[in-house]
Amino acid sequence: MFGPENMAVQQYEQLFGYAPLADLRGLRKRGAIIVMTTTIPDWLCSEEAKERRGRPLTDDEQTRAKREYGPETGTAAIYDPQTDSLVLPTGEVSPDPLHPVLHELGHALTLDRVWRDFRNLRWLLDNLPQRIQDHLASGYPQGDDDNAVRSRIAEVFAEAYAMVLAGRDVELTPDLASALVGILADMSQQEMSPSGSIDPDTGRTATYVPLETMIRESGTGDQTDPRPPQLTRAGDRRLLKRKARRWPPSPQ
Ligand SMILES: [Zn+2]
Repeated sequence: MFGPENMAVQQYEQLFGYAPLADLRGLRKRGAIIVMTTTIPDWLCSEEAKERRGRPLTDDEQTRAKREYGPETGTAAIYDPQTDSLVLPTGEVSPDPLHPVLHELGHALTLDRVWRDFRNLRWLLDNLPQRIQDHLASGYPQGDDDNAVRSRIAEVFAEAYAMVLAGRDVELTPDLASALVGILADMSQQEMSPSGSIDPDTGRTATYVPLETMIRESGTGDQTDPRPPQLTRAGDRRLLKRKARRWPPSPQ
């Protein structure tokens, strides 16, 4: 999590308390980041974003980013898969940022799978909760071509995720709820690549995960801290220099 210290940042940080720790850990293991900048285009046009994307934005893309996500566009939050970052503006903050933040977090967690697998998930569109139908009717493409179907399914999962976290999971159909759980479980499994060892002399066993994924407890260590790990504002600066995962993903 990267950003300045100010009221907006503190407010955003509190919102992440709604998200299950396993989901945030999954993102962190993947190398995804949460960025808070004055404006969203500030991040998209930055040197760090260029590093993570592996290329700068073209002039056209910069203009478009400013037009679509800049100040006075009403953009509350975005997820940018090319830099694998959830971006939250601190200059203009939505009066009720909880839902937009959770919705975009839902995209961060599910978009890759939806992108690759939308044809197999398409049947879910036939039976959607009213709230999600209303969301889709609010301006998402309605056609039957691949891009339209993929966009709608991406929205279904992001919205379903936000609903679950806001305590509205009873409104989801069982099919949708179990598809969402499946995607989230897959994600945390894929990101876990533990290796094991067993010491032939002592029989002692150990499981290792990549060191950079370890979450360090704050505090001195003689008492267990029950709070979730601090996503420090400083973050792990190395992540800013790391290339984001490949986007778009290769098809399954
Ligand atoms: Zn969305």
